[in-house]
Amino acid sequence: MDLPEGLKLIDENGKRLDGRRPDELRPIKIEAGVLKRADGSAYVEMGKNKILAAVYGPRECHPRHLQDPSKAIVQCAYNMLSFSVDDRKRPGPDRRSIEISKILSEALERVVFLEQFPRTSIDVYIAVLQANAGTRCAGLTAASVALADAGIPMRDLVPACAAGKVADTIVLDLNKEEDNFGQADLPLAYLPRTGEILLLQMDGHMTQDEFERAVELAKGGCSRIYALQQEALKRKYSVIVSEEESKAGEVS
Ligand code: UDP
Repeated sequence: MDLPEGLKLIDENGKRLDGRRPDELRPIKIEAGVLKRADGSAYVEMGKNKILAAVYGPRECHPRHLQDPSKAIVQCAYNMLSFSVDDRKRPGPDRRSIEISKILSEALERVVFLEQFPRTSIDVYIAVLQANAGTRCAGLTAASVALADAGIPMRDLVPACAAGKVADTIVLDLNKEEDNFGQADLPLAYLPRTGEILLLQMDGHMTQDEFERAVELAKGGCSRIYALQQEALKRKYSVIVSEEESKAGEVS
């Protein structure tokens, strides 16, 4: 898409349209356990993205033919709601949401101890309430917090964020204008503890050197998001522990 006249994605001071430096994330808010009837849930805001994730299971796998006698499967359903974008989105699955659901399921299957729950399905619903680019990454960040909130045994949380190329500059966490008018977008999910990459896609063009710099920048972003995911879970469970302690105090 051509850049509208007069729009400068990076200004003379090196700042981006929303005032960020190239290596800055958008403001992030993560809350664990926001839905009462889900087994686990999380809400994430990443800039103007607003995303809910709900987890149910492990439960009997449907459709039945997907059951695996040796392990559980993760079935992720990414759904962008009609009112989440400027031009109303037609409700229901489309090629994009089917693709995103598949790659998010695959990333989550890499961290859950699937062998502990043969024949079951762990269902993860991701609802994009408001979208402003980077929703697959914010959705994955939310989904892994929701899985942990559900108490599903897993070896790590999965933080994700994108990096890319905008006005010939490598930047972190592209917003909508940068995604639309930039040169490349590279969503990445990365486990800081083990150094594993669980998701990597790329849209657009970069040289090998730019690609390597973008990957490093996105890894740094993931490390920061990882700390926020842990804090969100600690916040929820420290409240529960202190509530239990005060109840125990009342009884005795
Ligand atoms: N988008 C939209 N309508 C659509 C799909 C996407 O307006 O049907 C917008 C939305 O803001 C989304 C952005 O385009 O966040 C980038 O979409 P992309 O497919 O790159 O996925 P994302 O960056 O959200 O993971």
